[in-house]
Formats: sequence, structure tokens, C-alpha cells
Amino acid sequence: MRFNTRLLHGSAVKKYADGATLPQISQVSAFQYDSAEEQDRVFHHKAAGYAYSRVANPTVAAFEQRLNELEGGNAAIACASGMFAITLSLLNMLCAGDEIIAGEGLYGGSIDLFEDLTKFGIRTRFVPRMTPEAIEPLINEHTRVLYGEVISNPALEIMDIPAMAAFAHAHDLPLIVDATTATPFLVQPLSLGADVVVHSTSKYINGSGDAIGGVIVDGAHFPWDFDRFRALDGYRQFGKLAYTVRLRTDIWENMGGCMAPMTAFLNVIGLETLGLRMARICDNAARLAEALTALPGIEVNYPGLAGHPCNDLVRTELGGRGGGILTFRVGTKERAFAILNRQKYAVRATSLGDTRTLVIHPHSTLYIRSSEEQRRAAGVYDDLIRVSVGIEDVEDLIEDFRNAIQE
Ligand SMILES: *Cc1c(COP(=O)(O)O)cnc(C)c1O
Repeated sequence: MRFNTRLLHGSAVKKYADGATLPQISQVSAFQYDSAEEQDRVFHHKAAGYAYSRVANPTVAAFEQRLNELEGGNAAIACASGMFAITLSLLNMLCAGDEIIAGEGLYGGSIDLFEDLTKFGIRTRFVPRMTPEAIEPLINEHTRVLYGEVISNPALEIMDIPAMAAFAHAHDLPLIVDATTATPFLVQPLSLGADVVVHSTSKYINGSGDAIGGVIVDGAHFPWDFDRFRALDGYRQFGKLAYTVRLRTDIWENMGGCMAPMTAFLNVIGLETLGLRMARICDNAARLAEALTALPGIEVNYPGLAGHPCNDLVRTELGGRGGGILTFRVGTKERAFAILNRQKYAVRATSLGDTRTLVIHPHSTLYIRSSEEQRRAAGVYDDLIRVSVGIEDVEDLIEDFRNAIQE
């Protein structure tokens, strides 16, 4: 089954109650049982069933199963937001004293989060680029995980996942990747060796910009050494499933960051058109990037452009598509603001992965909590505009950008 067919007819797509083609929105807190014995079995995970929506909910499960199938994972665990998914993907396997190694060009929220984690005794060492040469010198006896984004944003660098996974595993470390900007349409990181994938579903997976959510997908192929990964001690009996089991039955449940049933329903609908939207969005982005390159005084960054440093990875890893985000530098912050203000169709809004094209000046918005040094490291300059390309007719988009830039 190919990608778009699998979205509609995959094994995770069930016949739902009453023959419904979509899962019902189980907008309830609790589920009732005919007997105390039955309830006892469900609470002890000895029988299938639902008890309380923070712990499990049928609509949320329907979304998790569909996404898990797309990523080829062992289990997907849906969260209240992308940030919570990232937080838990790490806390599930880290203790105070452990260290993360991550790329500098991360999503701003993730950089802020890693700062927060230092208060819990978890330190992050940042590297300018996620390459073995950059990471190797920082690995020490406290290092427990490598973390990076498949397509970093807004720097738009692409991770060589097979190389990074092989390097991580050679050092007995798992690789966690944030694949929000890539989506399973462009790449399934678990199949290339990544151990855990996280997404902000608020972006391309939901696709219409109508619900905040996140998800963690565990490939369950990392051989945990329980003497080193002390956070998973107590789950030894589960072997490679230890990460999923602790996450599902312990830390995710106890921290209470579940996805709302309505969000899961909206995400199921969004997921069904993921392939259609991504193909269109990537085509539009490529055409828009080409058109902007031709304009004077504009410096375009789009991995799909020939000559981009990551263009080889676009072909070998992302199936030839460069993603839906591009950035361009215009010389000064004043000019960047003037261009943003003149746009007719592109919407000035944060977020990405919407049906409509969104534009933003990251330096004065997404990265206000970062130092100038951190911004530079993340590729955030004060004359930079980020574009999350939508599904509009590309001729109209090109005209909108040309007019705004040339005035
Ligand atoms: C938006 C985003 C997040 C955070 O997700 P939320 O759903 O907003 O919490 C994390 N990583 C990336 C790459 C993002 O784009």
C-alpha cells in the first residue's frame, strides 16, 4: 500500500462503532463497568478497556494507531502539545545528572525547555551542527541521548538520519528526532535508525491549524542498558519495550499531559489529507523559492534548491522534496517588516504547517527569549523572514511575494 492509500485504508483504519467511517468523539472523562471485577481487570491492564480519559480514550487511541502505523513504530503516545511530547520523550529516559547533546538550530521552544531542564539536573550540550565530528568531543560518561530535528527550523538543515543513528548506536546512545517539519510523508525516521520520533501535531499533521497537540512514537529497537539508563530501571523485564511501557503506564499518565479527544478527532481528519497537502505544499515551496531567488537583494534558503548544502539529503532521504518551509533575508529588519506588512495573502501569524501560507519575523517573535548568540547559532537574523508555504495557487503566492518585495 502506498502512502496516500495507507492513510485511508491502512490496518490502523478501523470500522468504528455503528459503521462510522471515522472514530466517534468520545468526549467523556470516565467509562463505566457492569462489575467491579471487570473494572479491576482493566485497571490492572489485564483486560482491554477504558477507565479514565487521561489514561486512555478511544478517539485518542484511534489517532495514535494511525500515526503509529505511518511511522512504523511500536507505539504512539499522544500528548497535549508538541512541547509536552518533547519534554516527556526525554524525561521518560533521563535522570538528574544525565546529559543531552543537541543541535543549536532547534525550535526556540526546545532551546528554552532544555534551559528549564537544567533546574532538574539535566544538562544539554549544544553543537553547531548535528554531525559525528561535532558531537564526538562532547560525549562523556553522563551523555544519555542525542536529540535533533530532521529539518531544523528556521536554519533548514537536514539531519543525515542513518549516519547520526549509526554514530549514536556506536556510543550506546539512543537518537530522538523531532520530525515535525518533515512529517512521515517525507521520511519515516524509525526506518532509518532513529529510536524515538516526536511531532508537534499542531502543524502539518493536524494541517488546518485548529488544535494544539503532540505525539511520541517509540520504535522499540534500542537495547536499553538498565544500569546506565537508570530512569528505566524497574522496567528491565520489558527489554526493548521498556521505553514504551514506562511512558504509557507511568510518566505520561502521571504527568497528565494527555491529548483531548476533540483534538485527536481533528488530527485523524487532518492525517487523511497529509500526503495531498504535503505534496502540494512542497511543490509550492519549491516554485516560490525559485521565484524569490530571481529577485535582487534577496537571499533565499530552501533545501530543495540545487546548490543548497543539504540538497543531496533532500534526494537521498526526503524523496526529492525540500519541505514546506523557506526563509529569505532581505538586508534589514525595517525592510523585512515593510515586506511583511505589504503581503496580501500570506498571513502574519506564528505556527507552520497550516493550509494557508504563514509568514513571520522569527528574530522579534519566536526567539525573544534567546540571546543574540543563540539566535545566530539557530540561523535567526534580524532581516530574516520565515515562510510556511500553504496550499494556495502558487501563481498568486508568487505575485504576492513579488509585489511585497518590489513594492
Ligand atoms: C511547533 C513546534 C514545536 C512545539 O509544538 P507545540 O505543539 O506548539 O507545543 C516543537 N518542535 C517543532 C519543530 C515545532 O515546529
